[in-house]
Amino acid sequence: MDMKAVYRYIDQHAQDLIQDLAELVKQPSVSAKREGMQECAEKVESMLQETGFSTRLLPEKDGNPVVYGELKSKHSKKTLLFYDHYDVQPPEPLEEWRFDAFSGKVHEGRIYGRGTSDNKGNIVSRIKASEAFLKTIGDIPVNVKFVVEGEEEIGSPHLKPVMKQYNELFSNDATIWEFGGTNYEGRPEIYLGLKGVLSVELRAKGAIRDTHSANAPLIPNPAWRLIWALNTMKNDEEQIMIEGFYDNVQQPSKEELQLLKEMPLEEKKLKKAYGLKEFLQGRTGYEAKKELLFSPTCTINGFLTGYTGPRSKTVLPKEAMVKLDFRLVPNQKPDEIFEKLVSHLKGRGFSDIETVQYGSTEPTKTPVTDPFVEIVAKAAEKVYEKRAVVYPTSAGSGPMHLFRNLLGCPVVSAGCSHADAKVHAPNENLTIDGFIKGTKFMATIMNDLA
Ligand SMILES: [Zn+2]
Repeated sequence: MDMKAVYRYIDQHAQDLIQDLAELVKQPSVSAKREGMQECAEKVESMLQETGFSTRLLPEKDGNPVVYGELKSKHSKKTLLFYDHYDVQPPEPLEEWRFDAFSGKVHEGRIYGRGTSDNKGNIVSRIKASEAFLKTIGDIPVNVKFVVEGEEEIGSPHLKPVMKQYNELFSNDATIWEFGGTNYEGRPEIYLGLKGVLSVELRAKGAIRDTHSANAPLIPNPAWRLIWALNTMKNDEEQIMIEGFYDNVQQPSKEELQLLKEMPLEEKKLKKAYGLKEFLQGRTGYEAKKELLFSPTCTINGFLTGYTGPRSKTVLPKEAMVKLDFRLVPNQKPDEIFEKLVSHLKGRGFSDIETVQYGSTEPTKTPVTDPFVEIVAKAAEKVYEKRAVVYPTSAGSGPMHLFRNLLGCPVVSAGCSHADAKVHAPNENLTIDGFIKGTKFMATIMNDLA
């Protein structure tokens, strides 16, 4: 259909978009602190209801409720699912915010506040895109489902059990994931996958208490134990040495490699932003992009042991601890990688080191050749009048695999954010222009999928 009336409706209701977003931003919903979760879920639910969606709050023991919304099209059998989250990252450090972190303040064409870009702006934008159809043509082009969870920022620990319990609610033909926006050149960016992640802690123990370091010839030092163990896990050419670690790594397809060539990487900007002269191993250009998106990693997140205060203390610590994460690519499985790590340490004589597995998510990807990818890319180009940048995957992680791997639907991530959104940081913001365009973009996807 001709989208003019829908676009006009969205333009004319820009003020409603801003107001609805401010209402959600003013309701803090910090999952890490369990602050305002139920209240925010109810706000999202009532916005969906007011638009005409039938809704449910899907509870899960000890978890924050998942908001579910559904609206049937009179003419289409196809179903588009929007995955979003109403929880946000903690706003700290508060003193670095120009405006109150939960204000939704409008200033020079931007809306400021925690959650504006990640992910409340997207929730509002997608609801308004649905409303624009209902108010102009009295129907929506496809059946639309909303799944808005409240634990994305803490690793979605309860989403899988909720999806299992309410299995029948989640079926769909295509899913739009929560994030995306425009880059520094104003080109829309869409993502076809996410890496997995496995978080691990290693602990080494020595004597039952800290001792005088004069005893070093006799008493084992757990800090050295950990360092020696770590030394067997990765070499100085950045290769991970855990036996079998790379066994199941899926090589990128030729279409994915082609996309890499076209994908911009702001090397100079990034190096400047991080204060670096060079990337690791001197990586640059195509190679840097390939490593970023398709290589699994092993990262030391933190190391804790002994005395680290002023001056010196000649102590021999009783324990040492290191936190690690592994970013995984298809078809690596977090549980298998953990098992390989445990047996690697055992095989190298480090069975005294305790291993603890924390949260994990699986990697996933939708193939570049899936027809939905082209629908989304074309829709972006219609609205932004610039060629879309299609990322075969993002270097980040999230529960996308639950939809892609369990339900089998294509999943593409796209949204209304922008390059200077300061997501997870002070002064998070969303441009009003991006908000409006992003809403038209979502409406266009609905129309084109139909
Ligand atoms: Zn986030």
